[in-house]
Amino acid sequence: MARFEDGTRIAADLLVGADGQFSTVRAQVLPPVAPAYAGYVAWRAVVDAAILPEATRRAIGSHFAFCLPPGEQILGYPVPATDDGTGTGRRFNVVWYRPTEEAALAALLTDSGGVRHALSIPPGRIKPEILAAMRADAERILAPPFADVMRLAEQPFLQAILDIETPSMAPAPGIALLGDAAFVARPHVGMGATKAMEDAAALADALAATEGDVAAGLAAFDAGRCPYGASVVARGRKLGAYMQAQLRGAAEREAAERFRSPEAVMTWTAVPPQAGDNL
Ligand SMILES: Cc1cc2nc3c(=O)[nH]c(=O)nc-3n(C[C@H](O)[C@H](O)[C@H](O)COP(=O)(O)OP(=O)(O)OC[C@H]3O[C@@H](n4cnc5c(N)ncnc54)[C@H](O)[C@@H]3O)c2cc1C
Repeated sequence: MARFEDGTRIAADLLVGADGQFSTVRAQVLPPVAPAYAGYVAWRAVVDAAILPEATRRAIGSHFAFCLPPGEQILGYPVPATDDGTGTGRRFNVVWYRPTEEAALAALLTDSGGVRHALSIPPGRIKPEILAAMRADAERILAPPFADVMRLAEQPFLQAILDIETPSMAPAPGIALLGDAAFVARPHVGMGATKAMEDAAALADALAATEGDVAAGLAAFDAGRCPYGASVVARGRKLGAYMQAQLRGAAEREAAERFRSPEAVMTWTAVPPQAGDNL
């Protein structure tokens, strides 16, 4: 029996927990599984390409572009502008990863109204002094085209990077977990939305194939998707190892150096795991 906020109660053969990374369903059936902070944050921003200086537009405006300052990483790529009325406009989207001690997170994730957020601060609510410090760092640390983007973006926002990994996507009889409720991989893999959609399609296919035998359908779904979700999380951890290692010892930093080389970053970012990957 599922009970909802408005008092509704529903009895059904199957409850699908597709309720995101802070999943209420997961918290009830798998209470030990919790988001784990990865040791770094991402600043995100998007600008109209038209407001970027000509040299910056030429340097990065139509590319999947990377900049690898010591201990950090910023990447950017063009995205369509949906609201310019012509359908031809371009915006440029960036994600800037920065190692951040857990103790410093509380200040970063407390908004201008004093509200502490769990994961990210919505655009427009970041404290002005935190924005100013980020922009000063951008001028100091980033290649000039990326510093331009951070300076000109009107509403950058901030996200703590988390890992979530469940041991089972069918954790109790008649219950399925999918999407972010089951696995949250770091953004380096670029596949949170597609993974959630594929999970849903796989569940539907498994239930159809077992012709109403929910237990058998859930078992098939779990066997197919759970190892895949774990491999996506593992891929995200590897790609983020370099940022994460900045807060650790010299040995870990050295081991993580592989993921600072431009070749490795460009080869593996936003590429789904495949059997036989040498990563
Ligand atoms: C800042 C940011 C940027 C991102 N950018 C990208 C990107 O560029 N590409 C990409 O692929 N992925 C991106 N992701 C990840 C992507 O958004 C998620 O992986 C994806 O949305 C997961 O889909 P989902 O359906 O599992 O969960 P969600 O999209 O989180 O949907 C869960 C839904 O459940 C609802 N819900 C929660 N609790 C309850 C409850 N108790 N009862 C009823 N409903 C409930 C929520 O309101 C929400 O509508 C980004 C994530 C963040 C935070």
